[in-house]
Amino acid sequence: MKNFIEEVSSRRTFAIISHPDAGKTTLTEKLLLFGGAIRAAGTVKGKKTGKYATSDWMEIEKQRGISVTSSVMQFDYDGFRVNILDTPGHEDFSEDTYRTLTAVDSAVMIIDAAKGIEPQTIKLFKVCRMRGIPIFTFINKLDRVGKMPLELLAELEEVLGIESYPMNWPIGMGKEFLGIYDRFYNRIEQFRVEEEDRFIPLNDDGEIANNHPMQESGLYMQALEEIELLNEAGNDFSKERIADGTLTPVFFGSALTTFGVQTFLETYLKFAPEPQPRHSNNGPVDPFNEDFSGFVFKIQANMNPAHRDRIAFVRVCSGKFERGMSVTLSRTGKSMKLSQSTQFLADDRSTVDEAVSGDIIGLYDTGTYQIGDTIVSGKSLFQFDPLPQFTPDLYVRVTAKNVMKQKQFHKGINQLVQEGAIQLFKTKYEDYILGAVGQLQFEVFEHRMKNEYNVDVMIEHLGSKIARWIEGNTVDEKLSSTRSMLVKDRFDRNVFLFENDFALRWFQDKNPDVKLYNPMDDR
Ligand code: GDP
Repeated sequence: MKNFIEEVSSRRTFAIISHPDAGKTTLTEKLLLFGGAIRAAGTVKGKKTGKYATSDWMEIEKQRGISVTSSVMQFDYDGFRVNILDTPGHEDFSEDTYRTLTAVDSAVMIIDAAKGIEPQTIKLFKVCRMRGIPIFTFINKLDRVGKMPLELLAELEEVLGIESYPMNWPIGMGKEFLGIYDRFYNRIEQFRVEEEDRFIPLNDDGEIANNHPMQESGLYMQALEEIELLNEAGNDFSKERIADGTLTPVFFGSALTTFGVQTFLETYLKFAPEPQPRHSNNGPVDPFNEDFSGFVFKIQANMNPAHRDRIAFVRVCSGKFERGMSVTLSRTGKSMKLSQSTQFLADDRSTVDEAVSGDIIGLYDTGTYQIGDTIVSGKSLFQFDPLPQFTPDLYVRVTAKNVMKQKQFHKGINQLVQEGAIQLFKTKYEDYILGAVGQLQFEVFEHRMKNEYNVDVMIEHLGSKIARWIEGNTVDEKLSSTRSMLVKDRFDRNVFLFENDFALRWFQDKNPDVKLYNPMDDR
């Protein structure tokens, strides 16, 4: 039995960030397989379906194959307890996707070797950067022909602005993929070679010492040359720089063929951070402190249509959660008993009785919680720092179909906005503009307004816009136009919604005195 300190130190909590189709599901499955959490691959639900009906939120989930039960996956490996948090992609990409990254201690970034760095990866990467968390890179699909490895490293640096240290290096690719040269373990791991012969040890010069057919291969020679280049001109390995998120260790592999995955997992566990202290208005909160504390990073509605319940996902930041314990919601000072909690494994919902710092628990919620809420078991009612604000990309104008339903309309909007799924803006004519980072949010909004507040809404799509806040918040209303619409956010701050990049630049040229900013840029 581990004691509390050992329990907390064994936690490794991360999310996988990637563009759809890079191999997140496949890699997750393989990791779960190693951890023994699932019996066979194919258990983690895919999300590859076409049209869906909006008649029922649960129905949306079913038809789209969004797996709500795989929101959090947990397994044990080599004395560690690993928590993988799902970050939905495609159209179900939402603010929750971003916010999930506030609940992890590190991230694994998967890149498709043929496609390189794609848009969604960039967005998610930025959020990790903002938080300064370590990022581990897995370059996937080496069993297919992709970009040259040196080119991929250059992309990491140029597109993402992060330096890299390749932990291993591919020898060939596609049909000629022979394996990886492992700089970290000083060995070669051969592709599609039986278990006991899989590894070829290297000598102190980093070359194959004993006679081996691999030595005859031009691809091996080429890999050696490239590694020499990396040794001379590449970055040095630095545990500290990995920890502060300025250097990403890079692993090559093929999730589909389970190649390079175990080595990746073992090395990841060596360098990934244990639960880290978290800032609050009472100073940093130590994860090894025995008083329980946690914060709500996501609220999922209607997971069970029979109960219309919501689940508040809480990241445990200190102490131990025990079923039935009493906690206080810092925002309201209200005490409550946490009797019903749930934890999500790959396939079914199972109830959790105990969780420590680093773990995620799901609490049944009847409207008590808001995104960002802190719950504590101790006397001090501190609150964790507010969650960052994410800039929406898509906008709609929304009105109630029936003017008699204004009251319900406002109530519904205000509650849904508080949940954090959508952001609300108002024009000076009191028009309601909603912003979201993903299209599905609007459909869920429409559906919930009807089902939970009995209001039919009319949605007019405004398309994508670039939102910019204004330093000092003072602005001349006359600068508002159709291409640069001036609105107020729900904190009464002025925001311009620009038609496109061109409109933004034109505006900046004409009005150099108006200093614009995007809360999501590094600040
Ligand atoms: P996700 O959208 O990121 O979750 O991606 P999936 O894991 O669903 O993978 C997308 C597609 O890529 C699927 O058809 C996978 O079988 C395929 N795939 C994943 N990993 C590999 C790999 O290592 N090699 C090859 N050739 N295909 C892969």
